[in-house]
Amino acid sequence: MKWASHIAIGRVIADALDLSQGERKAFLDGIVEPDRHKERGNRDGRSYLLRHHDPTDRVIMLHVWMARRLMLRNDTYQGYRHLGMALHYIQDKSTSKGILGLTHDRREEKLAKVEPSSEAVMRGLKEHVSSPEFVRRSISEVRPLKDPRKIMTQASYRSASVAAAVIDLSGRDKVKKDHARARRRHALTTVPLAIGSLAVGVSLSVLYESFYPAIPAAAIALAAFVLDRPYRRLRRLAEWNGLERH
Ligand SMILES: [Zn+2]
Repeated sequence: MKWASHIAIGRVIADALDLSQGERKAFLDGIVEPDRHKERGNRDGRSYLLRHHDPTDRVIMLHVWMARRLMLRNDTYQGYRHLGMALHYIQDKSTSKGILGLTHDRREEKLAKVEPSSEAVMRGLKEHVSSPEFVRRSISEVRPLKDPRKIMTQASYRSASVAAAVIDLSGRDKVKKDHARARRRHALTTVPLAIGSLAVGVSLSVLYESFYPAIPAAAIALAAFVLDRPYRRLRRLAEWNGLERH
């Protein structure tokens, strides 16, 4: 996607969010930054060049998390910059590369003439949920499209809903309460159940010199682990709201 298209979507979102002058500038800088210079990633201490036009959803999520943490710390300039970078990748992901990239350039030319859809931006802002699960799902549902108008609608809609999810801090108090309650329940039931059943299973196994008694115990521990999924989701939500560090 061309700079003009990225900026056009960014402007509609910045207007809808009524960003301050400085936040708007940081946001629009971020939204073109990935094309300005090649970004480098880091894995196992080794630096490598990110394949810019095909970044993984993981890389996009890294920028999302970075943006969210900065917003929580009230460092909105850096927050909007990283949000802009995440949106850049979502917008590029929305564009089909075509066979061997031959049709890609022509499509980008056409796309540059299409206005971003403010209707899709408003819908995206309204339909967001402020959680990492929502953002992850939104990113994974972005499809590479061919029709310029559809590309613009999808890119506008997904960009807006991810932006709204990242900057929405209104759910913090509720998450804080839910998290505290779930944490107590987890400490009082799930953990003792899993540890207790395993301990019983292991001691019976030792007693009878057979591993069979450990099987139902392991099943119970596994069930406790599976039933614990809502708690793990809540923990991620707590982290999303700056309440827990991993
Ligand atoms: Zn790009």
